Amino acid sequence: MGSRFEITVVANDSSQAAEFVALAVTEIRRIETLISSWDSASQTSLINLSAGIGPVKVDPELYDLIERSIRISNLTDGAFDITYAAMDKIWKFDGSMTDLPSPELVAASVKQVGYKRVMMNKTDHSVYLPNKGMKIGFGAIGKGYAADKAKALLIENDVKSGIINASGDMNTWGVQPDGTEWKVAITNPMNKNKVFALLPLYNRAVVTSGNYEKYVIIGGKRYTHIIDPRTGYPVTEVVSATVFAPSAELADALATSVFVMGVEAGIDRVNQLPEIECIMIDNNGKIHISENIKLDSKL
Ligand code: ADP
Ligand code: MG
Repeated sequence: MGSRFEITVVANDSSQAAEFVALAVTEIRRIETLISSWDSASQTSLINLSAGIGPVKVDPELYDLIERSIRISNLTDGAFDITYAAMDKIWKFDGSMTDLPSPELVAASVKQVGYKRVMMNKTDHSVYLPNKGMKIGFGAIGKGYAADKAKALLIENDVKSGIINASGDMNTWGVQPDGTEWKVAITNPMNKNKVFALLPLYNRAVVTSGNYEKYVIIGGKRYTHIIDPRTGYPVTEVVSATVFAPSAELADALATSVFVMGVEAGIDRVNQLPEIECIMIDNNGKIHISENIKLDSKL
């Protein structure tokens, strides 16, 4: 999935722990082959290759993930949109892009973006992207989904407690061996050595979307990998968005969403959602929090 997963389990001994970790790894690999856009044989790639040609029958699991993704688009006024992927032909964050795409090219590409156009057929679990050039991608939700599935599989196997850490996106269950809750330290990306919050994470996930890991600098300006699906341009106002949610999938998708929505609209929306909290850092390094986050003044 292009990111590093770290799996922590509480077990009776290290060989049992290793077995549990292996289970989780197998599950994450399985999901990768379903949702990868790089693997041209994945069901996701088949949907993309068939854009403008015809519907593709997919596993119910993938169908449901697409349905939930569209639900999150509705919940975020389209800030989150898996069809953003049509833009990945013109915005590249692997070092290969040296000039900005022309405004005409951006305008033409963003026309291929729009979750409302994805055609879902529940009876045969088929998915159709009706226009050539349309594309879906799970870059903003897939890691969270994989973390949830790995966690669920370990719980099914009686693992009482653990952490799935996907490049800093934390998904926990149970408590530490000494009976205390898992805690997560939040840092300001502009000053990584200083922890400004230490928050308990009980059966929950926390995910951060930031502008400081995947980006390009062109003409002295930073362009990050999160694209506003409505304009086709990278988001510029936010440095990081951290979201707490009951599942990693939701935390992942909403972190990307509020990043796109911006501080005011993003926090406002989070305050309307039950069991969701967020911390955002703007361009000036200022920290903004949703209603129920309590920052420890001692830190
Ligand atoms: P990270 O991958 O660093 O954890 P995110 O979860 O925020 O960060 O996902 C960003 C990725 O999501 C991008 O690299 C891209 O693949 C995809 N993406 C970019 N913009 C959007 C968007 N508006 N909606 C959905 N996916 C997006
Ligand atoms: Mg995300």
